Amino acid sequence: MEKSKDNIDDDESGKFFLLEELLKKNDQLQLVEGQLNRSRNDLDIIRKLVDCQNLAVALLDQHGNILYANRLWAELAGFGQEELKEKNIDTVLHPAAVDDNLSFILHNVQQNGHWQGKVTVKEKRQPKLLDFDCRRLADQKEKNAGFLCQLFSEDHKERVLDSSASTPGFTRDPLTGLPDRSSCQHYLSSSIEQAAKKGSCIGLLYIDIDKFNRVNRMLSPSFGDELLCRISSMLQESCKRAGGEYVARVGGDEFAIIISSLEKENQFEELADRILAKFQHPVTMHSRDIFLTLNIGISLYPDDAGDPSELLHNGETAMKMAKDLRSNKSYRWSSSIDSAAIHDMHLENDLRKAFENGELLNHYQPQISLTNGAIVGLEVLMRWKHPLHGNISPATFIPLAEKTQLIREISLNLLHEACKQGRKWLSMGLKDFVMAVNISGRMLHHSDLFEQITTCLDSTGFPVESLALELTETVLIENMDNTLALIDKCRNRGIKLAIDDFGTGYSSLSYLQRFNVHKVKIDRAFITGIVDNPSDAAITRAIIAMAKELGFQVVAEGVENEQQLIFLQKNNCDECQGFLISKALTAEQMTKLLRHDSSVAMKHSRIIKRFFSVKAKNKKTVK
Ligand code: C2E
Ligand code: CA
Ligand code: CA
Repeated sequence: MEKSKDNIDDDESGKFFLLEELLKKNDQLQLVEGQLNRSRNDLDIIRKLVDCQNLAVALLDQHGNILYANRLWAELAGFGQEELKEKNIDTVLHPAAVDDNLSFILHNVQQNGHWQGKVTVKEKRQPKLLDFDCRRLADQKEKNAGFLCQLFSEDHKERVLDSSASTPGFTRDPLTGLPDRSSCQHYLSSSIEQAAKKGSCIGLLYIDIDKFNRVNRMLSPSFGDELLCRISSMLQESCKRAGGEYVARVGGDEFAIIISSLEKENQFEELADRILAKFQHPVTMHSRDIFLTLNIGISLYPDDAGDPSELLHNGETAMKMAKDLRSNKSYRWSSSIDSAAIHDMHLENDLRKAFENGELLNHYQPQISLTNGAIVGLEVLMRWKHPLHGNISPATFIPLAEKTQLIREISLNLLHEACKQGRKWLSMGLKDFVMAVNISGRMLHHSDLFEQITTCLDSTGFPVESLALELTETVLIENMDNTLALIDKCRNRGIKLAIDDFGTGYSSLSYLQRFNVHKVKIDRAFITGIVDNPSDAAITRAIIAMAKELGFQVVAEGVENEQQLIFLQKNNCDECQGFLISKALTAEQMTKLLRHDSSVAMKHSRIIKRFFSVKAKNKKTVK
């Protein structure tokens, strides 16, 4: 059929229309392509700019996938820029001081907006610590649009800090990334200015980590660095929870927390208690349990101090007071601290007098065999009955004696008395036992210690093989130079050596083997928990097994109940000591007890017999 003219016209105009549309679309496409090219060029310029920045920056999506990392970021992370694309942050970096991975941390950053901490590069065998700073990016509707992450290495950070030095008064501690002492003072001064206007109050917690240098010495400075970063994260977390806003590192192992909006009267005490409670548990790092003790001083503006320096200084003084009291409680600054120092001075004088007047007495605590209940050892513990203050704990007066050099005279006197008393017990025909004497670290500084010990033995006639010296593992390791020679001489002479409070320092048993130690005393802290706390039970079991494998005898201290005793027997511990058996007794009381040693054994034979009968039954059933 032939097409009508009208139809042909319609066809032509349709073609035209389509052609016109095509041309229009082509124009639009060229326009978009032009825009795209310009955008690409812009993007390229921005990338180049970002790449030649002094900052190492990366952009992550909300799941932690790397969208873009600049050249420096990739370099610090040890990758090529292209390699990093689409990789998840968890496959590249790992937080150094916490056991969570970074995506878990990013999840928190979604809420909190910011996180700062140390990270290590995952694939490197000897990881270098890098600082990581991460901020949430939000779009206009405040929805999470991913994260901006910066990396800093030590040398690179210095460069960055140089360039940020233009912010007056703000300097960061290079290790933890926290504000340093001078920043803290600047911060306090502006906070005080505002508080003065508003008539509000500012609280400062001054926190010190007890004996931190021990960690550096025993485990390595880099372990110490990592631990400080971990501590700083823990403090930041506690501070945030308590509504505080500022944590600074004000000294090597000292931190300050500032709260400038006081909500409750006792907000600072509560925060301090919470921090102390948190550190009651060991911090686990690289599969090691690190026991830390914190000392916290509190000082408030305007009650305790009127300016930043005074506030910091009084916080520090209060912290020292908390340290002296060793009560594991925070201490609020008060003008009476000065009078406490005077009290200390009085006590020091009293201690001197007490020594001269014979107010210091030896007490003896028995150690029993876990196989037959017999007394096999006695630990000599010093006691001071003050005419006014009553019984003063050796934990208080021994450090005082150490400060004043009195420790040498007191300890030698104690040793002499103990040897004399020991000789008496032996000549009365009482059983064989080992007399254990505690040796303070200070004693090791005296080069004639060994000669003094042998003089005591010779003059009293107490047998060499019946004397044991108890040294804590930390004293042993901290005084290595002085101790090795002493240990050698003692060993050659037949004097025994026991490691006290084992488990809370960080040395391993195999390390201690080189000292030819004959006994290991498991610290009371573990024994307290062996029945209820599976990790204390596991640690105790492991110490016993390992110690026996290496040929040490094992003593458990602080045994207070039968379940603990049974646990220790079951796990082949050799001896135990604690209030369940007896507290420390005077020489007179001890004489009575030794005469009735068999009755002590009787008292415990019930438990011991029960144990052996269960063991025998078990054997039978196995057969
Ligand atoms: P240490 O050497 O670890 O002594 C064991 C401490 O645990 C003693 O405290 C003892 O009374 C206590 N204890 C024993 N069994 C139990 C128990 O079942 N439960 C509890 N809760 N405690 C128990 P003490 O006598 O107060 O001595 C404390 C520390 O003072 C000693 O710890 C030791 O480090 C030091 N010390 C005591 N006497 C001397 C001494 O003559 N010279 C030196 N250098 N230090 C001494
Ligand atoms: Ca001891
Ligand atoms: Ca002990």
